[in-house]
Amino acid sequence: MKEAYDCLVIGGGPGGALAAKTAAEKGLSVLLIEKRPAIGAPVRCAEGIGKEALAEFIEPDPKWVAADLDKAILIGPDGTKFTIGGDHAGGKVGYVLDRKVFDRELVWQAAEAGAEVQVHARASAPIMIDGKVSGAIIHQHGQTYEVRAKVVIAADGVESKFAKWAGINTTVPLAELETCAQYILNDIDIDERANLFYFSFDAAPWGYIWVFPKGHRCANVGIGIAGTKSGDGHRAKDYLDRFIAREFPNGKITELIVGGVSACKPLESTVADNLIVVGDAARLSDPITGGGIYNAMYTGRLAGEVAADAIKNGDTSRKALMIYDKTWREGSLGHALARNYAVKEAFIKMDDNKLNSIIHSMSDLSLDDISVKALVKEIFKANPWLALELPRLLRAL
Ligand SMILES: Cc1cc2nc3c(=O)[nH]c(=O)nc-3n(C[C@H](O)[C@H](O)[C@H](O)COP(=O)(O)OP(=O)(O)OC[C@H]3O[C@@H](n4cnc5c(N)ncnc54)[C@H](O)[C@@H]3O)c2cc1C
Repeated sequence: MKEAYDCLVIGGGPGGALAAKTAAEKGLSVLLIEKRPAIGAPVRCAEGIGKEALAEFIEPDPKWVAADLDKAILIGPDGTKFTIGGDHAGGKVGYVLDRKVFDRELVWQAAEAGAEVQVHARASAPIMIDGKVSGAIIHQHGQTYEVRAKVVIAADGVESKFAKWAGINTTVPLAELETCAQYILNDIDIDERANLFYFSFDAAPWGYIWVFPKGHRCANVGIGIAGTKSGDGHRAKDYLDRFIAREFPNGKITELIVGGVSACKPLESTVADNLIVVGDAARLSDPITGGGIYNAMYTGRLAGEVAADAIKNGDTSRKALMIYDKTWREGSLGHALARNYAVKEAFIKMDDNKLNSIIHSMSDLSLDDISVKALVKEIFKANPWLALELPRLLRAL
């Protein structure tokens, strides 16, 4: 580890990897640090991503594609199913990744582009000079390093502390923190080409249960529930265990992971002097699906580009970096996050009867676009009463 770099990237997830790769490709000297001893593990993710979204960054590789999906099936509280995609999906829909391998591939690409990668290296505080971020204190193998950087990219995930240390309010209200539990479940009967989403507020309050196939008779089966709905005897794992006892009583568990996903609005500002915040650290996971891999990669790449331009121009002030914030916020990502936040707010006001009636109303629809926007538009068409109950949501579409 050197004493100074152009760019210091904190976190080796998809956001950090794309930031480091892009900044290195643009000719910056880059250090990426990851506090865990291994990139990509443990996997706190259901690992689903849309094919078109992924194609913006990387060609699919059988090394890290665990399942190739041609449909998603939404299942209501009474068991009614609605399928998106299928035969008419034209090769679209999505993949379930093997993130242990995928995240390593992304970080390897950053290293190949010239970034230095250090694992088991944890940032514990920013170096602040004249109130501006100027690097970080890093601990690795019992040593402490002071590393200076012209721009720091905080890609430290949902548990992010770096932006907060640098003075940005990163608090996630408990009601907007989905607490999650997931198993890798083996020896179960599944459709290996379909992602399943179970909606029922009795079974998963203010959240949902997923079954994402990971190859032959194996799936990532998990749940997210609102933090305020969790407590003794009704934690995410308790709900998940009840679901598994009902649906897959003979499944063999080979992994249990718990984690959190923010379902709040993005940070009010994702830049400060010499600092850019990306991915989950910027609270950019989707408030309704919890998906954040694409959003992290997109903002990571954008951050790398903006950092390179700013350093080249000799101005890494908040004002100069603001173009990063403006670009994602005013682009399709920002609009999708705002719309899906409104959808989530409407969703959590419903009960199982309303969820049933919505899924029933959709049974005649044929949809090959898996996006939340397409889905919600169709739901509004099929349920005119929703427009009266949720006029703000209708306007947001
Ligand atoms: C249960 C669950 C299921 C999910 N399912 C999906 C899904 O199906 N599809 C989808 O798109 N998204 C899903 N997500 C969200 C997705 O995992 C995240 O949005 C995505 O990983 C965000 O990428 P990131 O690079 O911003 O952060 P992360 O992938 O979290 O990476 C951040 C990295 O920073 C490191 N770090 C943290 N602090 C420090 C520090 N001080 N110093 C050094 N390193 C540090 C962490 O160890 C971590 O490796 C899910 C999340 C959970 C919890």
